[in-house]
Formats: sequence, C-alpha cells, structure tokens
Amino acid sequence: MTNKQIARFLKETASLIELTGGNPFRGRAFDRAARTIERLEEPVEDLLAAGTLTDIQGIGAGLAGQIQTLLDFGSFELRDELLAALPPGLLETLRIKGLGAKKVRKLWKTLGVTNLEDLEEAAVMGRLAELDGFGAKTQDNILKNIKLLKSYRARRHYATAIAQVEMLVEALRGQPGIARVEPAGALRRKLETIDAADLVVATDDPATARASLAAVLGTEDTSDILEASVFTGALEDGLPLRVYFASPQRFGTAWWRHTGSEAHVAAFEEAHGAPADQADEAAVYAQAGLAFVEPELREDADALRAATLPRLITEDDLRGSLHNHSTYSDGAHTLRQMAECARRMGLSYFGICDHSQSLRIANGMPVERVIEQQEEIRRLNQEFEQDGDAPFRIFSGIESDILADGALDYPDDVLASFDFVVASVHTRFNMTEEQATDRVLRAVSNPYTTILGHPTGRLLLAREGYPLDHQAVIDACAQHGVALELNAHPYRLDLDWRWIRKATRQGVMISINPDAHAMDGLYDVRWGVAVARKGWLTADQCLNALPLDAFTAWLAARQTERVV
Ligand SMILES: [Zn+2]
Ligand SMILES: [Zn+2]
Repeated sequence: MTNKQIARFLKETASLIELTGGNPFRGRAFDRAARTIERLEEPVEDLLAAGTLTDIQGIGAGLAGQIQTLLDFGSFELRDELLAALPPGLLETLRIKGLGAKKVRKLWKTLGVTNLEDLEEAAVMGRLAELDGFGAKTQDNILKNIKLLKSYRARRHYATAIAQVEMLVEALRGQPGIARVEPAGALRRKLETIDAADLVVATDDPATARASLAAVLGTEDTSDILEASVFTGALEDGLPLRVYFASPQRFGTAWWRHTGSEAHVAAFEEAHGAPADQADEAAVYAQAGLAFVEPELREDADALRAATLPRLITEDDLRGSLHNHSTYSDGAHTLRQMAECARRMGLSYFGICDHSQSLRIANGMPVERVIEQQEEIRRLNQEFEQDGDAPFRIFSGIESDILADGALDYPDDVLASFDFVVASVHTRFNMTEEQATDRVLRAVSNPYTTILGHPTGRLLLAREGYPLDHQAVIDACAQHGVALELNAHPYRLDLDWRWIRKATRQGVMISINPDAHAMDGLYDVRWGVAVARKGWLTADQCLNALPLDAFTAWLAARQTERVV
C-alpha cells in the first residue's frame, strides 16, 4: 500500500469520526497524521518494519498499530466499527463538492438523508434550501454536482483501472486453460476514463479458462450460458469486467475486434470486409494492405485513411520535466530531491515551477522566496556541472497564476528573471466561456508566458473545467509561440487529447508535464504520454522531448523575440 493510499484511509477515518459525532480531537489527529504521511519520503511500510514510524510527530503507538493492521488486513477495527455505525450510502454523499462531513451529518440527522438518492430528492423538493447554512444557491449547486457524480461513478480513471487490470492479467497468465491474456477495449486504447475492463483470452478450452477466471477473481461464474464466448464479472472496485474467449488461431482477429473502437472496426470492415481469422493482430491490417494502427489511434477511421502513420511519442523520448513543485510552495520534497530524482530517471533537465505569490493556499512564493530559490538553482547547477556526470540542468520556472483579468502574478522585472513561465488558472472557475477565454487569451499574449498550464482546470470524474474556446486559444498559442501543457496528472490529462492534433498542425508545441508535488509524481508523465499518443503526438512536437541544447535554444529564441 502506498503512502498516498494509507493517507486516504486515515482521512476517511477522520471523516467517519466526524460523521458519527465522535470526538473531534480524535478526528483531527487522524487528519493530521494523514497529511504527515502524504509528505513522507520513505514508505510507511519500511518505517513500520524498522520500528521508527512512531518517531514521527503525531503518530503514536496506537495509530502505528492501526496502520500495521491496515497493511495486513486492508482495514482496522475502529474504521470497521465506524463504518458499521453509518448507513452504507452516506459516505458517497461526502464526494459531493461543497459537502463536508459536518454538513453531511446535519443532512442525515435533520432530513434523514442517507445516500445520494435521498439527497437528490431532498434538493429537488427544496428542503435543503430551508436548512441553516445551506440556502437556495447551495441547493442548486448540490443538485448540479449530484448529476455529475452520478455520471462519474460508473467510470474510473485510466490509471486506476489499468493498475487493477495489470494485476489481474499477471495473476491469470499461466493459469489452466489460458494460453494468452491481454487487455482490450477502451483500456487498451488508453482512454482517459473507463467504464468497463475488457480482456481477450486465447484458449482451446473455454470451460477451463472460465474456471481459472472464477478462481482468480474469487467470484461465481454468472455468465449467461448462451454466451459461451464471454465471461462477465467485476473487478475488486466494482468496475464491470468482460472477458472474451478465442481460439489461439483466431486470437489476433478477436483481439482487434474487442479493442475497437466500434467506429474504427466498422470503418475497416466497410472498406476491406470482415478480416479472416488471424493468430496475430498485425496480420489483420497487413492482409488489408494497411500499416499497423496503434491501439491509441483506433478511436475513429482517421488512421485507416492516413497515407502515413506517425511514430508516436514514448516515455523514452522525454528529455526533461518542466512543471514541478517543491517545498518552496506546496510540494512535499525539496528542490534538490526533486531535481535529483529527475536526474535518476535519466532526464537531462528539470523545470521547477512553484506557485506564484497570490496563491496563498498553495504557499505561493513572495518575491524574496523567488530570489532565494534562484540562488539555490545556481548553486545546484554549479554542482551538477562539476560532478562530471552527464549534463543536467535545473531551469528556473514559475507557475504563475492567471489573475481574474488575465494578468500574470508578478511585475515584469520578476517575470523576466525566470527561464520560463507556466501560466495557469487556479481561481474563479465560474466564468462564462467568453470571460474565461478572454482571460486565458490575455495570459497567452503576455510576452513572458512560455507554456499555458492545465488549459481548462478540469479534474476528471470530479470537476468540469471552465468553459473555453479551445480553437481561439490554440490560434493565440500559435501566434505568440506559446506551448500548450498536457498536464499528465492522471486526474487532469488537460489539454484534452482531442485538441492535440489541431494544435500541432498549427505548429504549437505540446509540453507533457507531470505537475509533480512529490518525487513519485514525476512518474505521472506516463499517463500524459498515453493520451498524447491518442493525439498523434510525435517526439519532435513535444517541447520537453527536445534535447537540453535545443530546449535552451528554444527558450533563448523566445527571450530575444520578447526584447525586439
Ligand atoms: Zn496548477
Ligand atoms: Zn502546478
């Protein structure tokens, strides 16, 4: 279990204590411990094994014992007791934006709301608006957010789904009756959110394969017996699972068909007829005289009609990591730790982009802190230069807030002191499309802006971004030589990949940025690369795939332009 996952359990326990009306000090202790653990460098598991977890402030022997039980059994007694004391649907209502444990408890105790459906009914009947501390506007918002949550709850982030499926596939390999097993469907096409997990199994003996599946999943085989070629079940978190069986001789064709998309398969068959049985998937395209189409490009028929297909970007193509945080703002690790981690990953440059001054909740940097950080960057760069290893450089960047009127967050002389500027919106999301677009356009036209950060501010399955005229923003980026960020956090993946081709066709560079707030966050680029490939992105269209020298030259060219 990762530190993040442990922290999530502790935070949930804090909410459970508040929901059940327990001792608020106890709740806060869990909340504090969760925050501490989130920021720990070493895995909690190692600290527990070494007996040093209790050396950390706020983690006593009792809590350490609970964490040990959590690691061993997936829960602990207090949590189980609290869960048992609550109506089962209550916890989900906590996921509604604007509803904390305190409000949820009030709704439960005064209106008898115990799940999302109760809450929706109470809101529709106008009963929320009459409650102390709610009001008509809150009620409207809650209703809107219930609708969103309902549409979200059937889906999973790609990162969440693929992690489970990779484990399942690993467990299935080599089991009786299973000659080969591979992920298919939307998961293989790397869509950013997933509503079902599809697998294809090569087998000569479907009955045995079926039994192996049931054994590994620990479930009954509930499939409709008439559908002998499909096994349906669910992953541990409830995501529907569909497993398709095919003989090894026609595995390739089955894998191709169940990878989809429907639109891609239909367009193929319309042009080339249904493919013959093939053991190897590549043969499906080859037999039609087509180049192999990477699964990421199979959302539509475009790749079938293209004269040539691009060599899609891979993680190995990345040379730098540009948008990252440190303890100078709201990151968990120091600048040195973050940079050295990037270096260990084989990258040759690291951009630090802590938050700018106005973003107080994220510990944004006043000008003195900026100067301090830039001095540290100089010292570290000197150190890297002298250690004789492969060239490595830290670039001084900033994640400058885009203020409500589109201005950046420092005076020009401070902005000029950075090697590059990522401009991002973090506040005032409730603008109209026209307002939000004007705001972003003004930031893009600022001569100091290098990259537009997470262009819509969306959080997948949690928050819609502000409405944006994407085409206008792309036009402006092309005009001003500003790169577009593809924020690689698995909950963001913003810029949406559907806009990438439009941007690159106009010469706009895409920067795949992890927006890491801790060392392990640097690895999030893999999610960005996954969806970038869906946008046909090649290495030469990606800003942080430029080698160190070329990236330095790119920045220098932009600065010269600014002076002229
Ligand atoms: Zn940001
Ligand atoms: Zn950031």
